[in-house]
Amino acid sequence: MKELLRSIPPIHELQNQPTFMQLSKKYDVDKTVMTSILRMAIEGLRNQIIAGDLEGSDITSRIWNQMELMLNRKNKSRLLPVINATGTILHTNLGRTRLSRDAINRVVEVASNYSNLEFDIDSGKRGSRHDIVEDLIKEVTGAEAAMVVNNNAAAVFFILNAFGKGKEVIVSRGQLVEIGGSFRISSIMEESGAKLVEVGTTNKTHLKDYKEALSDDTSMVLKVHTSNFKIVGFTEAVSTQQLVDLKQFQEDLIVYEDLGSGVLFDFTEAGIGEEPVVQKVLETGVDIVSFSGDKLLGGPQAGIIAGKKQYIDKLKKHQLARVLRVDKMSFAALEGTLQAYANKKAKDIPAVRDMLLSMEEVRERAMVFLDTVTSLNLFHWELVEVESMVGGGTMPEVKIPSIAVRVHTDTLSSQTLADELRKGTPSVVVRLQDQHVMLDFRTITQGEIPKIVEAFRKIELTYRD
Ligand SMILES: *Cc1c(COP(=O)(O)O)cnc(C)c1O
Repeated sequence: MKELLRSIPPIHELQNQPTFMQLSKKYDVDKTVMTSILRMAIEGLRNQIIAGDLEGSDITSRIWNQMELMLNRKNKSRLLPVINATGTILHTNLGRTRLSRDAINRVVEVASNYSNLEFDIDSGKRGSRHDIVEDLIKEVTGAEAAMVVNNNAAAVFFILNAFGKGKEVIVSRGQLVEIGGSFRISSIMEESGAKLVEVGTTNKTHLKDYKEALSDDTSMVLKVHTSNFKIVGFTEAVSTQQLVDLKQFQEDLIVYEDLGSGVLFDFTEAGIGEEPVVQKVLETGVDIVSFSGDKLLGGPQAGIIAGKKQYIDKLKKHQLARVLRVDKMSFAALEGTLQAYANKKAKDIPAVRDMLLSMEEVRERAMVFLDTVTSLNLFHWELVEVESMVGGGTMPEVKIPSIAVRVHTDTLSSQTLADELRKGTPSVVVRLQDQHVMLDFRTITQGEIPKIVEAFRKIELTYRD
């Protein structure tokens, strides 16, 4: 190993080799950048040698190969489209959702031009970006007022900071959730300066627990939608309506519900889950709710805050509103998405559409795929019934019946097959279940099918012999 490490030529020597200049010319990269890439290439090889992953000789040509790889990668985008064949509709690692065609068109239009982001066209005076989607949100939720921040985590922090800082906020122990490993209600609350008053137990919290915790220092009761887990069995939680009724004991008490995903389409009517639509929650008289733009709403990353005007007005004037403000492209996408709800065209939104696809519709997609792919004889194909997940920490208990194609080969392990599909262009991310590669067609569009067929064709060409 030491010998291998010693055989790495010094930088200045490599810089004087003709290959260095050739690569510099070929990729049109100047000497300074070339040298820093050279350093990284050497560093990478050194680590490989130390880890015992590299044997053999001719270190120099390995360095040039590594550099060429890095130079190739340098000009390629890092953020790439991926085909989600997992059947998980809100896939957090894969960007959560696809936007609707309308939303995408709105983004392209607004990003390609100047816009009236903060300009009132009627008066010619300065306008407010808060006005862009407020009326639409009011229309689809029935709220008195609304505003939008960067994401729902920001919304939670903002509301706690604006109304709970230095005061007490009451939360049920059953709702002190952690979402996605990086967002804990208790930590966010600590950061916000609000004092957490925990009530009840993990499985049961009663109205009297809240009532007894009320004090002169109480500013708010926070209800958190426990969206990424479900406690079953001997449980009891207090309804939003009951929390709202606590206001009779304390006049200035604010009742805030973090809805997590929040839905504007009533999935319960399609027999899916138990998520109440935002409008229904607001009808209880709750003061403020917040929810994500890119969970089941199917829009861009955003945190939507809706509720009583007196509170929303305060938030709009708060310093943090500037810190957490949303970009024009997000507003454009959000407007495009919300318009679909306002026009009763929620099924134009991919996340909503994929949730509602029937088994038969998914089966049709799978059949189109099978029709073209059966000519590839390296693989065995089988149509199977599976269950799709909603994902994104939403509706954890809900499993939607779906159709998948199960693939295996006699030569490749399922893991190798999954790796090959993932590393292809475009990357195809599959589900591995019972040691089989599964393509769940709930999240695969018609347009993606030829690309997946092509991915298998390439693998067949590589491994045929
Ligand atoms: C997902 C979630 C959040 C965070 O929302 P983001 O849009 O990811 O920032 C906050 N609270 C609950 C209950 C959630 O489910």
